[in-house]
Amino acid sequence: MNMQSKRAVRKKQRKAGEPQVVTRAVTHIRLAEANVGKLSALDALASVYLELCQQYIALFCTIEQPNKLRDPLYLTSLSERWHRVAIMQSAGVAQSWRSNRARAEQDHQDALEAYQEELKAYREQQTRGTLKDGEKAIKVPKAPVWREWNVPILREWCIQANVNVAKLEPSDDSSFSYWLTMSTLDKGHPIKIPVKLAPYHKAVLQDRKINSSVQLNKRDGAWWLTLSYDELVASKTAPGALVVGIDVGIANFITTSTSKHYGTMHGKIRQRHKRDREKRRRKAKLRACLKKKGVNKLPSTSSRSGQRLIRHTKQTINQAVNACFTDPDHEGAQFAYEQLSVASMRFKARSMNAYLRASNLAHLPKQIQWNAQKRGVLATPVKSAYSSQECSVCHYTHRDNRPDQQTFCCRVCGLQAHADHNASVNIARRVGDTQVRACTDRTAIKALLMKRHEQWKERHGKAVTPPVKRRTSRRSSRLI
Ligand SMILES: [Zn+2]
Repeated sequence: MNMQSKRAVRKKQRKAGEPQVVTRAVTHIRLAEANVGKLSALDALASVYLELCQQYIALFCTIEQPNKLRDPLYLTSLSERWHRVAIMQSAGVAQSWRSNRARAEQDHQDALEAYQEELKAYREQQTRGTLKDGEKAIKVPKAPVWREWNVPILREWCIQANVNVAKLEPSDDSSFSYWLTMSTLDKGHPIKIPVKLAPYHKAVLQDRKINSSVQLNKRDGAWWLTLSYDELVASKTAPGALVVGIDVGIANFITTSTSKHYGTMHGKIRQRHKRDREKRRRKAKLRACLKKKGVNKLPSTSSRSGQRLIRHTKQTINQAVNACFTDPDHEGAQFAYEQLSVASMRFKARSMNAYLRASNLAHLPKQIQWNAQKRGVLATPVKSAYSSQECSVCHYTHRDNRPDQQTFCCRVCGLQAHADHNASVNIARRVGDTQVRACTDRTAIKALLMKRHEQWKERHGKAVTPPVKRRTSRRSSRLI
């Protein structure tokens, strides 16, 4: 498990107009100037420290609720102060593991409900035996499977130290920028590690107040330091600012309610994902074959090219999000986006290498949130259920409104639009929609949307729902 977070951002529900404290990290400070003796003292400390952390993580993930102030429970050769730091760090790891797991469980429940609906529609069609005009044949839906999560294992060496065990002081009498004084296993004999900053780091940290907590990581045999500072970002979003809805997907990473698209999973990336998948398949076959033969050491399932591909996809996503936020048309606007995780993304990416794509796509909401925070722009996550099936004009919500992946065509009012665009309009509207927020599950949301549809019909004098024949070339301009 990777505990290093490059952008630890303080989470607080923000309101329009309020300035926000954003904690920015300064990474990649290599502790190259320390001598071997000091580094081996650090190694010795880290190995005891991480073993202790692992014990508390298991405790906080399985038996007790995470508690940063818990009394020490396990025996260790660490000092009491280091012991406290270990408990705090472990509680943090366990807390995020628990909340991620809870979110995944909720997503799984949603996926189950969606599956039930799909199954019902499938059975109805099967019983009927014939297709209605313009109706598509439904494939046999696949039930989502819940896999229990393992307790996180600290694979990378990471120490989140506070001022009680590690103190950063400016150095005036040497060529180094700072001294990091750390207590070790050897009581009463702290080590002083010299910290040399690169010109780039110096420029970033100039006139900043560095936070007293620091993070140390060991990667590829070297120790690295991460410093951080707080920045007050003024809010650029005026109350009542225009809401731009963001729909995320594969054909278009981002589609906004302002009718714009940014980035795509199609094209080159798709080809690379295809190749990567074939490679994984071959590997899996080989593994299965070797396992059968009783070979103990199996080749790993992760590949270097696969890792590179994930990195590349993330970069492309970052560029798309950046382009959306810096678009002159979105000046002064606020944003609304669907809070999706891997499980629900998977449902959305119902295609070949769905999982791989989904795990990449889950990077999108995180990136949207981070971009908003660092720019002082308000971005609100909203419930996404049925946002792709709901008609943004009359609220009629049905799977048949989607004749294909790209097209939205309302069966009642005849609205025709790009499917992602229709969804992004719905997403934009869900900001401040207290009724949708109050819904506890998908069924409740659907009932609410259909109630709104009935109200729309009353207003428009349509007592019954006349089936609208699609396949007309009539284009509605209501959305565009
Ligand atoms: Zn409609």
